[in-house]
Amino acid sequence: MSGSWYVKGDAPDRQKFIEEAYTPDVWEFWLKKGETAEIVFLDDDRFGVYRHVMPLDGRYEKFTCNGEDCILCGMGKSRSYFEYYNIIDLRTYKNRDGKDVTMTRRALAAGKDLAAMLQLRRSERGGSLAGKKFKVTRMGEKSPSAGNDYQYLKDVDLSKVPNDIKPYDWVKVLRPLPAGQIKSILEYAPQSSKGGAAVRRDDFLADATSPAPETPPAHGEDEIPF
Ligand SMILES: [Zn+2]
Repeated sequence: MSGSWYVKGDAPDRQKFIEEAYTPDVWEFWLKKGETAEIVFLDDDRFGVYRHVMPLDGRYEKFTCNGEDCILCGMGKSRSYFEYYNIIDLRTYKNRDGKDVTMTRRALAAGKDLAAMLQLRRSERGGSLAGKKFKVTRMGEKSPSAGNDYQYLKDVDLSKVPNDIKPYDWVKVLRPLPAGQIKSILEYAPQSSKGGAAVRRDDFLADATSPAPETPPAHGEDEIPF
């Protein structure tokens, strides 16, 4: 038995701790360099937060900034603004059971440059991206991980979206972690990626999100209705 501030028996297993701490509440849309995907915007809410993007243990993690109380701001860590959108990723992949999954709920996180481009696309499309289908490409290594080329394809009928694809509740999934939990994560997963503190800010902003592991919330097998 352990409490929030002590452990009885074996010290916590580092790998287990990291896996638990890193199990994301939100699965971000992510492309490899040169990759293309078709997506549909489920809404155009533009939920904005500052996040600290940090290289940790060979990957990049985003911590929502807690404003004046933020422990990472207190440590002098830089933060960046991201706008979040609910989208469906229409890439097909095989899940663990070997079945094709055709529609996956994702969070699209747009940093400054991508948000500016989406603003352009929004104004071209009558003021909202909701229900718009786009072909998205990530041109290069330094491009945003959510892609930097957004080509409008068509309008789709959002009433055809399967009922089990629900938009994220941003207030819930992007809430800042308690300071104690951030401290523990930093302790267990030192900033070891690419030389830690020497990593250039641009490097990790360009590739801010690790590819999602398996089994994201997904909708399987059905034909894509649009
Ligand atoms: Zn902060």
